[in-house]
Amino acid sequence: MADREPNVHIIRTTVNPEMTRRAELRRDFLVPIYLMWSSDVPSAEAQAAAQGVYDVVKASGQNRQVINLGSKAWSNGDYSSADWYLNNALRMQHEARDKGHGQQVSVRSIENQFIEEPWQANPHWEVFIVNKDLYMDDTTNFVFGATDSGFAASVQSVRRFIDEIPEEKFKLEMIRRLLRHEVGHMFGLPGRNFNVEQEQKLGSHCTNICTMRQGMSIPEWAKLTQEESRQNVHFCKDCMDVLAKKKDQFKPLPH
Ligand SMILES: [Zn+2]
Ligand SMILES: [Zn+2]
Repeated sequence: MADREPNVHIIRTTVNPEMTRRAELRRDFLVPIYLMWSSDVPSAEAQAAAQGVYDVVKASGQNRQVINLGSKAWSNGDYSSADWYLNNALRMQHEARDKGHGQQVSVRSIENQFIEEPWQANPHWEVFIVNKDLYMDDTTNFVFGATDSGFAASVQSVRRFIDEIPEEKFKLEMIRRLLRHEVGHMFGLPGRNFNVEQEQKLGSHCTNICTMRQGMSIPEWAKLTQEESRQNVHFCKDCMDVLAKKKDQFKPLPH
């Protein structure tokens, strides 16, 4: 520790003002959510995922726009479609992994592009759906996806639901719950202190009958989805209270 470079503090406080501007807009203002999916995500699955996003926006009471880019190209060249991001992630990834659900894609390689893309000049949140199995690092077999509630961004896969849940309607319900749960994190859920009751499975989760409960496997996710569906619950009262408190923390976008 004694011989640490003296200029380390200077490096730490040197920030890119444009990056700061973008981060502050994403944190404090009602920036839109850009929603997109790769072209191999079937239409019904894509719509179920989108429905999960809309569920949260509605529950939040926020006047936050969802810009549904879908799977079509919105521009030319780099960063012009969800397929471009996915193929670029595959190009940057060195490992070839397959855990029985086809070629796996590094979720980080997709996420990193949200920082690099030119479109963040108009700051926004990101939700990205793929039909490829995802992994995080060598310690994980697979992940449903990853959500960065600080950015905020989420990358989610429908692959395992398609492979493992034969009942069409229930599969779509599970996918909708996945997006409702992950986008719920982007909106700051569960966002309160649980003390002893708090579960710490890969981040904070709710313990009520609620979308914000954590499921660690497809069968567990199925059980939770079924239970909430029977009781007709998306978010529990505690989570709704948190959303209500957060509603006015965001300012309308400056013109
Ligand atoms: Zn979670
Ligand atoms: Zn809850």
